[in-house]
Amino acid sequence: MNVITRSPAPHVVIVGGGGTGGALACDLALRGVRVTLVERGEITSGTTGRHHGLLHSGARYAVNDAESAVECIEENMLLRRVAPGSFEENDGLFVGIDDEDMAYGEKLFAACGETGIPARWLSPAEALRLEPNLNPALKGAIRVPDATFDAMRLPLRWFATAKAHGAVIHPFCEVTAFAQHDRCVTGVRGRDHRTGKEFEIGADLVVNAGGPWGEKIAAMAGVDVPIQPSPGVLLALRGRLCNMVINRMHKSGDGDIVVPQRALSVVGTSSWVVEDPDDLGVPEDHVQRMYEEGAKLIPMVRSAPFRQAWSAARPLIGARGASTGRELSRTFKCFDHREQDGVEGFVTISGGKGTTARAMAETTANVVCQKLGVDVPCRTRDTILLPHTAYYAA
Ligand SMILES: Cc1cc2nc3c(=O)[nH]c(=O)nc-3n(C[C@H](O)[C@H](O)[C@H](O)COP(=O)(O)OP(=O)(O)OC[C@H]3O[C@@H](n4cnc5c(N)ncnc54)[C@H](O)[C@@H]3O)c2cc1C
Repeated sequence: MNVITRSPAPHVVIVGGGGTGGALACDLALRGVRVTLVERGEITSGTTGRHHGLLHSGARYAVNDAESAVECIEENMLLRRVAPGSFEENDGLFVGIDDEDMAYGEKLFAACGETGIPARWLSPAEALRLEPNLNPALKGAIRVPDATFDAMRLPLRWFATAKAHGAVIHPFCEVTAFAQHDRCVTGVRGRDHRTGKEFEIGADLVVNAGGPWGEKIAAMAGVDVPIQPSPGVLLALRGRLCNMVINRMHKSGDGDIVVPQRALSVVGTSSWVVEDPDDLGVPEDHVQRMYEEGAKLIPMVRSAPFRQAWSAARPLIGARGASTGRELSRTFKCFDHREQDGVEGFVTISGGKGTTARAMAETTANVVCQKLGVDVPCRTRDTILLPHTAYYAA
């Protein structure tokens, strides 16, 4: 009798349990790779669980950052198919308040056409019919397919689906060092904060999906990645001041988005740069700017009851030294540290948006699978994700 022995599937450890790590765990697990994900806090407790929850149409980036705009509109359409029920399909308006905005609107409308974002001009009366709380002095609006989602629940669907395909998820496990042999990463070491015990997990390859902490994590492996943590402040007000996503029709600036989230309205955001993503603060003058700028779009922003203000850091690709972070692209990049730094078995993914987590995962999984000799195509383009509640099922 011939005995066929199969070598076990390769094992990948992912460091970081945000949307990017979750989508990657899902992608790799669906390709038959053994996956272990370690996250230092609760799943989605980094930037992922703290963003607006805006499913970008890409229009915000269409004029100045076309690559990111195309990524957003492609994922926007795809995610509605694979994560049904996760989106409030409310669309968005870019609202022009003055002549400068209207001149920008011409550029925005043309750029939407060039990047494949469906866009339609609305008269002031049409916009006010859709959103009666808008600034009545508005001069015009452009309607685009923005949408709203729950910043934690959508990523939980990646984690749930990953788990159902064998991925092992360890929250509260912080990586503090890498196991290395001859400039090859062979695993991770760290501490389980629930038990206080140290752990070591061996791997054929380790992916750094640490978001704004990605540079710190890479440094533990002795490599440098150009990640610029760039925080922004968000302000949640009680009550739904709008039902669509409201954006100012101008180059991205402070307080120029209002996102309806359940019974709240979230005004965002600002942008600055920091050295340490654990030390952000919530500058009071930024909160005040959210009120001032947000009220230019929807005057009721000024008087709506305060619910909460917080900050989170974007993991932008770019060398340190940016002035505010707004000048850096919102696209993403996957770094194979063998090619970059001569360190084998180690890959970093960073940049992007919550909206583009799946695309980031696909790009990274392609690199990982090519390195590990796994010849299985990506399945996350057409696999319907499990509901977020399945993550907590035994
Ligand atoms: C203010 C603001 C508003 C935004 N609004 C939107 C929006 O509306 N729509 C949108 O699409 N995008 C938005 N974004 C962008 C989006 O939030 C991020 O691109 C995305 O959340 C990044 O996800 P991530 O998984 O890469 O990083 P993270 O979510 O930060 O995940 C990285 C994880 O790594 C963990 N970690 C760090 N160090 C270690 C370690 N040593 N060991 C183990 N784990 C570790 C962290 O705890 C963290 O959970 C916004 C960003 C900001 C800052």
